[in-house]
Amino acid sequence: MTQTPLDQADFLDEARRTHAGAPEFLQALEEITADIWPVLEQTPEYRKARVLERLSDPDRIIRFRVSWMRDDGSVAINRGWRVQHSNLLGPYKGGLRFHADVSESEIRFLALEQTVKNALTPLSLGGAKGGSDFDPSGCSEGEIMRFCQAFMMQLAPFIGPRRDIPAGDINVSSREIGYLFGAYRAQTQTFEGALTGKDTGWGGTCLRAEATGYGLVHFASLMAEEAGRSLDGACVAISGAGNVALHAAERALKYGMSVRALSSSQGALAWKTSASQDDIERIKQARKNRNADLESLASELGASWHGGRKAFDIPADVVLPCATQNELDADDAAQLLDQGCWLIAEGSNMASTADAMVRLRETDSVLYAPSKAANAGGVAVSGFEMAENARFSAHNPDDPDAELKRVMADIHTLCLDHAPSKGDYAAGANIAGFHRVARAMLDQGVA
Ligand code: NDP
Repeated sequence: MTQTPLDQADFLDEARRTHAGAPEFLQALEEITADIWPVLEQTPEYRKARVLERLSDPDRIIRFRVSWMRDDGSVAINRGWRVQHSNLLGPYKGGLRFHADVSESEIRFLALEQTVKNALTPLSLGGAKGGSDFDPSGCSEGEIMRFCQAFMMQLAPFIGPRRDIPAGDINVSSREIGYLFGAYRAQTQTFEGALTGKDTGWGGTCLRAEATGYGLVHFASLMAEEAGRSLDGACVAISGAGNVALHAAERALKYGMSVRALSSSQGALAWKTSASQDDIERIKQARKNRNADLESLASELGASWHGGRKAFDIPADVVLPCATQNELDADDAAQLLDQGCWLIAEGSNMASTADAMVRLRETDSVLYAPSKAANAGGVAVSGFEMAENARFSAHNPDDPDAELKRVMADIHTLCLDHAPSKGDYAAGANIAGFHRVARAMLDQGVA
C-alpha cells in the first residue's frame, strides 16, 4: 500500500489493484468512497490518520476448511470464512450466510457494509460477516446439523460474547443457530451469548426473527411520512420469500398495504389484490418443512406464478428488495421508474447494482433508502439480545416493536441530518456511519 495519503482517483486506482479479485467488495467500497470523500477533504485529521485506507481493509480474514459427513458416509468439503472488519465500536458483529455462491469477496463486502450499518445504530457493535459455500438445498436434517457442527468446530476459537458474535443470514435461521450454538456450548463448555438469533426459550430475544423485515417497513413508513405521503393503501412488491421478505410482507399488511408480489430464485408469485396473512403463514410453514417451492404453492394461495421473472416485474408503488445483493439492476430501476414506483427501500444488503443506484439517486421521482440504513433493525435487536445475555436476563422489553420503531426513527433522523442534499439517504447513511467509526479510530490511536 502507498505510504502517503492519496487523492480520490489514486485511492480508487490502488483499491482496484489491491482488491482486483473482489468485485462485490470493490463495489461497496467505491460507493462509500464517493459519498465520504468530500467529508475527508473537509476533515484533515481523517486524511492524516488515513482513516479510509485503514477501513478499506478488514482487521482480519479467517478462512477455514469444513469437512463433514453425508448420510451415505461420503465426505463433503466446503470453505468457510469469518471476516472481522472492525471492532472500533464494539465486538465484531454480523451474520453467517450459507449459500453455494458464497465467496470471500461477498463476505468481505458484507463485513464492510455491516461496519457502517452497525455504526448507525445507537449500540456498541463492530462489524463482521461470515459464511460458507455450503448449499443446504437437498440436505437432510442430520446433514445440516453435522455441517453446522463442523463449521463451528473451526469458528469457535475466534468468537465469543466480547469478541465476535455471529447471527443468521441467508439459509441460516433459528434452526441453524441452534445447531451452531449447541456445538459452541459443547466445544467451549460455556453457555454464553456467542451467537444471536437464538430461540427465546434459551437465550434469544423476542422479535429477533421479525426485526429486519418489520424495521424495514417502519423505515419505509418514515420515508413516506417525511415526503408527505403514506404507505396506507399503497401496493408493494417484495423480492425473496425468506425471513426478511416474509416479515416485511407481514408488516406491510399492518400498515394497510397490499402485497402484490413475493419471489424466489426461480420466479415471482403475484396476487391480483393482495397476499393475506394466511398466505404468508402458509409460506412460512412450507419453509419450516423445507418445502418452500413457491410455484407449487401458487394455486393454493390464489396467486399466479411467473417463472424466471422478478418481483420487480409486478407493478407496485413501493418496492422492497429482500433477497440478495445486486438483485435490482439498471433495467429494473428504469422499469420501476416507468411504472410509477415512488419508494424503494432495501432489505437485502447492497440490493442494487452500482448502475441502478446511480439511476435511483439521480431522480427525484423515487424515495430510495440503502440497506445499511433500512435493514439495520435486525442487528439492533441482536444488540438487545447481547445485552440481555450479558446480564443473564431473559427480560424482554414490554413492547419490543415500539423499541424497534424508535431505533429505526433514530437511524432515519441520522441519515437525514447527514445527507448533503434533501432526502439523500444513501449519502446520509454513509457519512453518518463513517463519522462515528472515524472518530473512534482517532480517539483510539494507531492500533
Ligand atoms: P433467507 O435465506 O431467509 O431468504 C433468502 C431469500 O432470497 C429466499 O427467498 C431465496 O430464494 C432468495 N435468494 C437467495 N439468493 C438468491 C439469488 N441469488 N437470487 C434470487 N433470489 C435469491 O435469507 P434472509 O431473508 O435472512 O436474507 C435476505 C437478505 O436480507 C440478504 O441479503 C441478507 O443479507 C439480508 N439481511 C438479513 C438479515 C436477517 O436478519 N436475516 C439482517 C439484515 C440483512 P431461494 O429460496 O429460491 O434461494
